[in-house]
Amino acid sequence: MAKVAFIGLGNMGGGMAANLVTAGHSVKAFDLNADAVKDAVSKGALGAERLADAVSGADTVVSMLPAGEHVRGVYGGEDGVFTHAAPGSILIDCSTIDVESARAVSAEATLNGFPMVDAPVSGGVAAAQGGTLTFMVGGSEEAFGKAEPILSVMGKTVIHAGDPGAGQAAKICNNMLLAITMIGTCEAFAMAEKLGLDQQTFFDISSKASGQSWSMTSYCPVPGVGPESPADRNYEPGFAAAMMLKDLKLAKTAATEAGASTPMGALAEALYQAYSIQGNDGKDFSGIINTLRAK
Ligand code: NAD
Repeated sequence: MAKVAFIGLGNMGGGMAANLVTAGHSVKAFDLNADAVKDAVSKGALGAERLADAVSGADTVVSMLPAGEHVRGVYGGEDGVFTHAAPGSILIDCSTIDVESARAVSAEATLNGFPMVDAPVSGGVAAAQGGTLTFMVGGSEEAFGKAEPILSVMGKTVIHAGDPGAGQAAKICNNMLLAITMIGTCEAFAMAEKLGLDQQTFFDISSKASGQSWSMTSYCPVPGVGPESPADRNYEPGFAAAMMLKDLKLAKTAATEAGASTPMGALAEALYQAYSIQGNDGKDFSGIINTLRAK
């Protein structure tokens, strides 16, 4: 059984750490928010007041943090993981961050004698609690081999995407595509409505025809149509629009750095930015259909 230091016990990390405890691993929990640590302790983790206490004696470090700056600080900062963890420990960052930060932190890990993977997830809070996340993993074969048994406890699918940063690259390419197909699906339903076509009838046709996508068949943005989705709960997330906007901004940065042409991704980002300004950050990302239907 592993001795895990878990850093970042928010909406996602809380459930993931609890699953490691349930599987029999020893988990020391650290978060800047003392209530998040308390909650982890109530689920069987040991609480740590400082990052150094969490990583001392650990052979595995898992982090689930908001953004690249937090990951750089937690690993490379003066009082960070590289200073306090035992060399050789496997480092697993599950946060969704920019590709450049993921590569920089991984390179620093190598210099300090740590195998490290970037392992962002697909799936929301329910999947984190249920242990059914999908992990997209970037790192060496050796690092992936060490991380895989831990990731398998927290998810149902673990895929080695390639070298350091490849997990983040897969995540933002996937989510950019998801945003584009969701907006396209919303546009098609809104236009069908204006043309007098029944929404269920359009679903029955398009979900079996060439317009089909996950956004339509698994996560339909129209209430009462298709399998149950956030549309049936007044667009409660699900996957919050603010999270989608974050991922689209990461995609834009990565596209600029790589010289990739992503006009549809840029348009999706502008539309979700407008949706955010209208006060919809906490709504599910499929709720963007209401801005199209309203027009
Ligand atoms: P969250 O804000 O609920 O949790 C982040 C936690 O990190 C907080 O508890 C915060 O106090 C802690 N933290 C921040 N800086 C810290 C530091 N220096 N040291 C220790 N703890 C620190 O966020 P979340 O929803 O759990 O998301 C975490 C990551 O997962 C993000 O990168 C997000 O993009 C990604 N993600 C989220 C979802 C989702 O549906 N929520 C889905 C997929 C991926």
